[in-house]
Order: sequence, then C-alpha cells, then structure tokens
Amino acid sequence: MMSEFKPILAIVIPCFNEELCLNTTIDRLLEILHDLSAKNKISEKSYLYLVDDGSTDKTWEIISGYHEQNPAVKGAKFIRNFGNQKALIAGYEGVRDIGCDCAVSIDADLQQDEFSIETFVDKFRDGADIVSGIRNSRDTDTLFKKTTAVMFYKLMYILGAKIPMNHSDFRLVSKRALDIMEMYPEKYLFLRGFFNDVGLKTAYVHFDVKPRMAGESKFNLVKLMGLALNGITSFSVVPLRIVSVLGFIMAFVSFVIGAETVFEKIFFHNTPNGWATNIILLCFFGGIQICCLGIIGEYVGQVYREVKARPRYIKETELK
Ligand code: UDP
Ligand code: MG
Repeated sequence: MMSEFKPILAIVIPCFNEELCLNTTIDRLLEILHDLSAKNKISEKSYLYLVDDGSTDKTWEIISGYHEQNPAVKGAKFIRNFGNQKALIAGYEGVRDIGCDCAVSIDADLQQDEFSIETFVDKFRDGADIVSGIRNSRDTDTLFKKTTAVMFYKLMYILGAKIPMNHSDFRLVSKRALDIMEMYPEKYLFLRGFFNDVGLKTAYVHFDVKPRMAGESKFNLVKLMGLALNGITSFSVVPLRIVSVLGFIMAFVSFVIGAETVFEKIFFHNTPNGWATNIILLCFFGGIQICCLGIIGEYVGQVYREVKARPRYIKETELK
C-alpha cells in the first residue's frame, strides 16, 4: 500500500444539456474531492473537468460560473454535439494535458455511486492502472434497454471482445493508461473495449445505479445502436469471417442442389413444378446476401470514417 502517495485526481464529467443536474453534481463532487483530500488519499490539487458536449441550455454558464469562483472546476466546451464517447475522450485528453495522476469519469446525472470513487482511488493506490465500475443491477433501466444491453454484451463476448457484463463508463484510469490511449490514433475509439483490451492491471468495483437525478436521458435508440455497432466493428472482425464461412456453405449447398437438378433432368425428364421451392430459395439466399452486404458495409463505413481522419471533436473554449 502506497499510503504516502497522494495522487492528483481529475474527475471527468461529460455534459449534454444537464442544467437541471449540474449544480448539485458539481457541489457533491467537490465535496468528495474535499473529503478524500482531508483523508490524505488525494492531492489538494485534484479537480473536476466538465466537458460540455455542445449543450443548448445553460450548462456552460453553470460551468464557467463555478470556474470563476473555484479554479478546481475546469472544463471545455465543444462547438457542437459530438456524442458521449467523444466528450469522454476529450475529458481524458484534457486532464492529461493539464496534469493528473489518475482520472475518474462519471455521468453528469450522478446515476453512478459517487461514493465509490473512494474505493476506486484505494485500488489505484494499491497499484491498479484501471478500476472499472460494474453495475450491480439494471433496475433503473427500461426493460428494452436491459434486454438490448444484455444481448450486446453476450454478442460482444461471442465475437471475441470480452467486455465484462454491465461494464460502464464509470472508471478510474491512471496517467499511464491515458498515455497509452494517446497511442491509439483511431477516431472512433470505443473506450469500454479499449480499456479492457489494453492489458493494464485492472480492478473491479461493483456499484449501485441510481435513477437519473433530473432531466431526461440524453441517449436515444439511434445513439445506442451507433455505440453498439462501433463497439463491434472496432473490436472484432469475426462478423466478416462469419460472412466468408456462410458464403462457402451457400456455395456448397447450391452446388449440391444444382447437381441434383441436372441429374433429375437427364435421367428422369420430369422437371418438377417446384414453385414454392424456387420462391423459398430465392428469398433465403437474397436475404442472406443483403444481410452479409450490410455487415461488410458496416466495416466499410468504419474504414471510411477512420480514413477521413477528421478530428474527434472541436473545442470552442477551455477553462484550465
Ligand atoms: N452525454 C453527452 N453527449 C451526448 C449524450 C449524453 O455528453 O450526446 C452525457 C450526459 O450528459 C451524461 C452521460 O453522457 O452525463 C450519460 O448520458 P445519460 O445519463 O443521458 O445516459 P443514460 O444514463 O440514460 O444511459
Ligand atoms: Mg444517465
């Protein structure tokens, strides 16, 4: 146990139209920093770093208001909405530039248990480079979100990207992990996959999920599907292999059917009136082909987005 070591902790908070939550969130997190620093667990130079992901409400006014009162509240504002993953990446990169020994990311609605941050820090001081928050239950989620999330993690597991079930973006990462993140130039970095895949010493902390403090979820089905597809296409090529294997199987099956048809034609001269067979085969193979094209298309899309190498995000202002 490195009891002498008082790391500088940066708390990264992505915010998109969170004016209803933000005052309480900032107050509570500042209190946590104060507490941990009083217990000599973190440096008094620790701070919050809020990333305003192109909010259209008073989010940025609240952040800059706090910053004027207290320099421990820092932040950056995007010129438009780039999405939660980009806001998190910007947060990690921002605190790496400003300087910190470890960074914790937490949602602006404080759905994750902010008191677990102390356990995160303990595990970090014990030598973990990554401390991952695992949700205890999904009681606060809708049935739809619960089922789709479970399906996603199962699918990811089958496809070889072994992200623990109910993994979340509530985690602590060391400066070392942040330095390694910089070596991953991919624009659509899937953070959950990356921090799990990178091979640093990882500890897990279970936490309870609370209902959202105020306001509405900023995620919709399209955003969630985008996140899931990005997770799959950036961490596994197994779907492409499945397409190839399926192609082989289909070719073999059509060869057998073809041979059988020719055989019947030559030896029995009774070409059957197989209308239903025709339609079924047509639809079956047509469906599979379009499905495979879609899978390949997802990867082509990923290549297309990466090859353009557009910036991950653009900051309008930053308060350091
Ligand atoms: N968020 C963001 N950009 C977005 C959507 C969400 O920065 O485009 C932030 C949001 O402000 C919150 C976190 O990401 O801090 C998680 O979002 P939310 O709580 O709405 O998602 P849920 O908990 O419903 O999955
Ligand atoms: Mg939430």
